[in-house]
Amino acid sequence: MIVVRSRFVAGLLATGAIAASSSLLAADPKPDAAVLEATEQAALKGVLTREEQAALTPQVVLDTLLAGNERFVRNDLTQRNHSQRIREAYAGQFPKAVVLSCLDSRIPVEDVFDRGIGDIFVARVAGNFVNEDILGSMEFACHVAGAKLIMVIGHTNCGAVKAAIDDVKLGNITPMLAKIRPAIERGRPFDGRKASDNPAYVAHVCRENVRLAVEAVRQRSEILRTMETKGEIKIVGAYYDLGSGTVSPLP
Ligand SMILES: [Zn+2]
Repeated sequence: MIVVRSRFVAGLLATGAIAASSSLLAADPKPDAAVLEATEQAALKGVLTREEQAALTPQVVLDTLLAGNERFVRNDLTQRNHSQRIREAYAGQFPKAVVLSCLDSRIPVEDVFDRGIGDIFVARVAGNFVNEDILGSMEFACHVAGAKLIMVIGHTNCGAVKAAIDDVKLGNITPMLAKIRPAIERGRPFDGRKASDNPAYVAHVCRENVRLAVEAVRQRSEILRTMETKGEIKIVGAYYDLGSGTVSPLP
């Protein structure tokens, strides 16, 4: 297994499509299909190693997650030996990405991207907003643990967003929804009826909520902003369709 992995990394570096320096990372080359396939094959063999993690670029990580989502949508998830992976991952973790998702039970994040133990960090909170604790978690994931991608993922028909639109007042839900309200109050204009029973408006606010969360990561974390500027990580927003299972990156 060790020999196979060493060959894998050497192969990736030899292609030139995997960056080995920050200057190449900044160039953000579009990875070719062979690199993506090699990355996926390595992921299928076992838990990501430090060496494999270091060889990845943010764009490769994004593309492999989206490729995993395509497998999820066509019900072609990878069969993994979880018992073996638990043992492999015991000594340490070198995940490739951190995903911030809504709490919604209909978004099983690892499955959505066809990932297993040790592949990705997942942070969850109703309404997928960013706060100090989430930012600290992302800084740990990227700056300390080496993840190459931050993805904030919202979704269609989000109950938390609907509750924020309705300005629900209830216990600790009230201050939680206040963190989603900026998407309503400071989001881009919406031309239509602004109500929680208007799916178009809910979708608009959900997308604005993701966009503001991505902005907040850059504005409120100097560590992550600097890493992105250097090309060491990517910070992206995405939208999950509850009806189809498809994840679409937001522009
Ligand atoms: Zn939600």
